[in-house]
Amino acid sequence: QFDEMVYMDKLTTIGQMAASIAHEIRNPITTVRGFIQFIQQDTKDEKLKRFSPLILEELDRTNKIITDYLKLAKPNQYELSKINIDKVLKDSIELMRPFGSYSNVTIEFHSEEMTYVKGDIQHLKQSLLNIIKNAIEAMEHGGVVKITKKVNAFNSTVTLKISDQGKGMTKEELNYLGLPFYTTKSKGTGLGSMITNRLILEMGGTIEYESKVDEGTIVTITLKLETEK
Ligand code: ADP
Ligand code: MG
Repeated sequence: QFDEMVYMDKLTTIGQMAASIAHEIRNPITTVRGFIQFIQQDTKDEKLKRFSPLILEELDRTNKIITDYLKLAKPNQYELSKINIDKVLKDSIELMRPFGSYSNVTIEFHSEEMTYVKGDIQHLKQSLLNIIKNAIEAMEHGGVVKITKKVNAFNSTVTLKISDQGKGMTKEELNYLGLPFYTTKSKGTGLGSMITNRLILEMGGTIEYESKVDEGTIVTITLKLETEK
């Protein structure tokens, strides 16, 4: 049984730890950067001339990674209100299309009528981007990311399904999904799904993953309908 409160609590602790470590690392990096910049000025040393731009570049890259982590760790402000889920879906899909076309992945979504849910636009967008990105990355040889939306009038919810025909996951891998830093990608952070899970929970929704190796993955998100004005 999945205990939401314990989960949220753990996430907060991890976030705070990550933030304080990241902060401590940033200071020495800034100092080192300053020294490199200073000693390379007007230098006659050929090696120093050649390599100092690379050193600075790598330091800047490290700094950027840390800044990104800090952004994630900071519990960002959000507000639950009536949002148009179709508009957020369409915006997110348009953002991911170019990334998909790199690996011959198209994204499919049709919608006849607008649906309004209780949520936060940034939260929902970030969640969809993370999920669609994973779906695209799972299909190395191309394919289709299919997104469907279904309104459940009986319990006032809406269900989104995002499916891919990618490499899928074993039962064991499915269990690891969402744990901080769990990744099977050479350039992955292993933070995407953890963040997605948190964002969906914060909107009062649920998220579930089904997967079969070599067949694909289905991510199901359920959010509360907003019927009031
Ligand atoms: P990252 O994408 O940086 O690796 P995530 O938390 O988004 O971090 O995902 C963790 C891992 O879960 C991925 O490395 C991948 O192995 C697996 N995964 C997530 N989504 C999918 C998917 N749609 N199909 C197959 N594997 C997936
Ligand atoms: Mg990811």
